[in-house]
Amino acid sequence: MDRLPPTPEEVRAALHVMLRAIGEDPDREGLVDTPDRVIRSWTEIFAGYGQDPAAILATTFGDVEGYSEMILLRDIPFSSMCEHHMMPFNGLAHVAYLPAERVVGLSKLARLVDCYSRRLQIQERMTREVAKAIMLHLHPLGCGVVLEARHGCMTCRGVKKEGAIMVTSALEGDFQNPATRAEFMALIRG
Ligand SMILES: [Zn+2]
Repeated sequence: MDRLPPTPEEVRAALHVMLRAIGEDPDREGLVDTPDRVIRSWTEIFAGYGQDPAAILATTFGDVEGYSEMILLRDIPFSSMCEHHMMPFNGLAHVAYLPAERVVGLSKLARLVDCYSRRLQIQERMTREVAKAIMLHLHPLGCGVVLEARHGCMTCRGVKKEGAIMVTSALEGDFQNPATRAEFMALIRG
C-alpha cells in the first residue's frame, strides 16, 4: 500500500479510466465533471474514516436519577458501501444499552452508527464494531445492536433479489441473558 495518498489528479485519471472501462466516453458533455462529482461525494460517503468513536462517546451524563433500564434508539437510518462491490447498502440500525452509571446523548448513538457506516463495510463487521465501541467507551452492563439492510449488490446484480433484507445482530454483556435479549427484540418491533 502506498504511504502517500493519491493526488486529486491521480484519482481523476483513475475515474476517467473506469468510465472508459464500462464503454463510455469520459469526455462527452454529461461526463466531463463526473470524476470531480464522484470525488466530492466520497468525502461524505467515506467520512467515517476521519471520525473517532472515542470522541463521539466522550461526553456522558451521570445525573439520571438512578435510571438503570434499557435505553434504545430505534430505526436509525444508515447508508453504507459494501466493500466487496463498492455498492450501497441501506437500512435501519437499532442500538440499545443497559447503563451502568453514565448515559450518553441519543444523537451520539446515531453519530456512532454514521462513523462506522460511512466506510467500506460488510454488515456483519459494522454490527460488531458499533457494539464493541459502546462496550469499550461507555462501559455499560451490556449492549445490543441490530442492523436491517437492503444491499445494492443483491438488487442490481448477482441473484437480483430486490427487497431481500439482511438482518445482523451483536449482543454484549447482559444482552446475552435470554430475558434482556427478549426485551430488546420486543422493543425493536415496537
Ligand atoms: Zn456487495
